[in-house]
Amino acid sequence: MPAPISRPEGFEHFLALSRRIGRDILKTQGAGGNTSIKQDGVMWVKASGTWLSDAGSKDIMVPVEVAPLVEALRAGDSRAEKATDFVVGALNAGNLRPSIEASFHAALQSPVVAHYHCVNTLAHAVLEDREARLAERIARVRDLNWTTIPYRRPGVPLAREIEKVADTRPDVLVLFNHGIIVCGNTVEEVAERIERVTAALAIEPRQDAVADMDALARLAEGSGFKPADDPVSHRAALDPISLGASTGGSLYPDHVIFLGAEIGILTAGSTMSELARVYEQHGTPMPKMVIVPGKGVLMSETLTPGGEVMARCLADVVTRIPDEATIAYIGADAEYELTHWEAEQYRQALDRTAAGR
Ligand SMILES: [Zn+2]
Repeated sequence: MPAPISRPEGFEHFLALSRRIGRDILKTQGAGGNTSIKQDGVMWVKASGTWLSDAGSKDIMVPVEVAPLVEALRAGDSRAEKATDFVVGALNAGNLRPSIEASFHAALQSPVVAHYHCVNTLAHAVLEDREARLAERIARVRDLNWTTIPYRRPGVPLAREIEKVADTRPDVLVLFNHGIIVCGNTVEEVAERIERVTAALAIEPRQDAVADMDALARLAEGSGFKPADDPVSHRAALDPISLGASTGGSLYPDHVIFLGAEIGILTAGSTMSELARVYEQHGTPMPKMVIVPGKGVLMSETLTPGGEVMARCLADVVTRIPDEATIAYIGADAEYELTHWEAEQYRQALDRTAAGR
């Protein structure tokens, strides 16, 4: 009888790193981000819909066989999308489903891989001239082998793009309009690289403006909306550059997945019921997030914590975008692809379950 496959060496350290990434709001928002560790052909990767911040306190890692998953990805086999067929059943006591990003973790050859939606990375990676801006920043960590990946929908399309560069064994991958991947041979090496890369990419946000909470409360009354709980979330609405960047289009996938492609804008002098009527007349659903220029942000009361935190992420990104920059939004086709995608609907359903809705 073959020896049972056990958890990799250093698994507790791996969980601790995952938890640290998950608890840093500038790196992870809600169920975003995922980590993996490989040993003896098996990869333990974060499960779909779970939160990295729960690593260690809840069972959030699911074991997956690496070789057949990479083979499926290369062959264009549709089973690579959910990766459920490659789960090591005997070890998956919690009956978890792998992250929709499991396939790129498998494609990358490094034993330890951390992927997260770092707001400092995003503030560079959503700009037209990102290659030049990133090159200047990453020059500060010259010893690391880094590369950039064009925007693709998370899941197989993104994993196939990443698989193309896997043979070069990159240490850092910046995913345009998405986030970052940091790789290494050990948990300690990845942790150390994350520190240095984060420092190299850091941008000081605009943070002087303060929301008009009284005005927001008045506007929200009886509308099914409420002022965003997190004071930082309002900053998406408070200065002209942040406001322009927030309302010009969709910047990255998780925003679209949790808040939709449309952000409402409540212009001066109009009310929430007037705005709701405009959407009703167009036969489109009312957006879950409404920006009140110069005042702050209103959020639908039906939002889950996973949705609510996406407003904070948006503010953290747009307040780091410089004023002279041109933004590369993901565009209408990418938005459509994200809103008509079964795997993400599963993640949203999990998020609602976790929130008790
Ligand atoms: Zn991601």
